[in-house]
Amino acid sequence: MILGSITDYLESFFPKNTALDSDNVGLQVGNSLSDIERAYIALTLTDRALKQAIDFNASLIITHHPLIYHPLRSIDISTPLGRRIKTLVDQHISVYSAHTNLDVATGGVSDALADVYGIRNRKVISPTDEYKLLKLIVYVPVEAFDRFREQFLQDKVGHIGKYSHCSFSLEGEGTFMPLEGSEPYSGQQDLLSRVKEKRFEAVLWEKDINEVIARLKEIHPYEEVAYDLVSLSNQGQTIGLGRYGVIDPIRKVDFPMPISGVYKGNLDEHNTFSRIGVSGGSGGKMVNDAVRLGLDLFISAEFSFHDELLAADHGLALLDLGHDASERPVLEPLATLIRDRFPELDVRVETI
Ligand SMILES: [Zn+2]
Repeated sequence: MILGSITDYLESFFPKNTALDSDNVGLQVGNSLSDIERAYIALTLTDRALKQAIDFNASLIITHHPLIYHPLRSIDISTPLGRRIKTLVDQHISVYSAHTNLDVATGGVSDALADVYGIRNRKVISPTDEYKLLKLIVYVPVEAFDRFREQFLQDKVGHIGKYSHCSFSLEGEGTFMPLEGSEPYSGQQDLLSRVKEKRFEAVLWEKDINEVIARLKEIHPYEEVAYDLVSLSNQGQTIGLGRYGVIDPIRKVDFPMPISGVYKGNLDEHNTFSRIGVSGGSGGKMVNDAVRLGLDLFISAEFSFHDELLAADHGLALLDLGHDASERPVLEPLATLIRDRFPELDVRVETI
């Protein structure tokens, strides 16, 4: 499998342009045209992770933390980073990183952590962007319509809330005249054709336009596909850092600890938790938001002394899991996402 196909697929879930400005996501080292048979997924490219990847014979390593975070002026192979880059180049291994774009994405780092605690009715704690909704209208000859709809209504088209395969169609008459050089699906050159067509409508996210239109042109029978893309004023999908929602009220003493952590902020042992928030990685900056949202508990990592004071003053309990442990739940779902689309690829997740 060509590396570029794998990364294009991943970026349809976590587009690079949704990463925070200071971030460096995407291909870090390697060749986007290289052929990949084995992919290894780790949070960070430590020496241990690199050794595991080499032992696994991986030609692709996907990390959450970018290998090259600060711009490099030189690659000095006497430094740990330079040495890793040299090893990667010598061993023909590519490294691809999805960092804050994976943090903010639906199904990304914080959603994976929210899954661990079974948080329901989820919302974003700190929005960073909104995906806009578009309507696609396309005209399809009647006899080809059912097959077209079946092929076209897949993951990127026709999703409304918890419903998939949402579309509408209406029959009518289309006209066209094939001109010189055309290779029409039906009709003859310089003769006006009248054909029974169906108008097909479905919604899609603006971020998926290129992929969806490419697929439309691939499966539509016409040489020139007539379609309209219409901007909608409907509310889009908010993406951003952290997730909050509800769980069934539970006493602090009964709260499950699938990932071990340390309570901070409000340390009252008689607390009951119902409104809880999570953010994988460093969540100190979001304590303010957690207070504003009236959460009982905020689960993240890297809280400063002042974050803890602020939380204690507002009755908010903090649960510090440590940076690494709070992000680790995303690795398996990421592997599953890749295996589902590329079953021929051998994918392994870092073991600790
Ligand atoms: Zn992190």
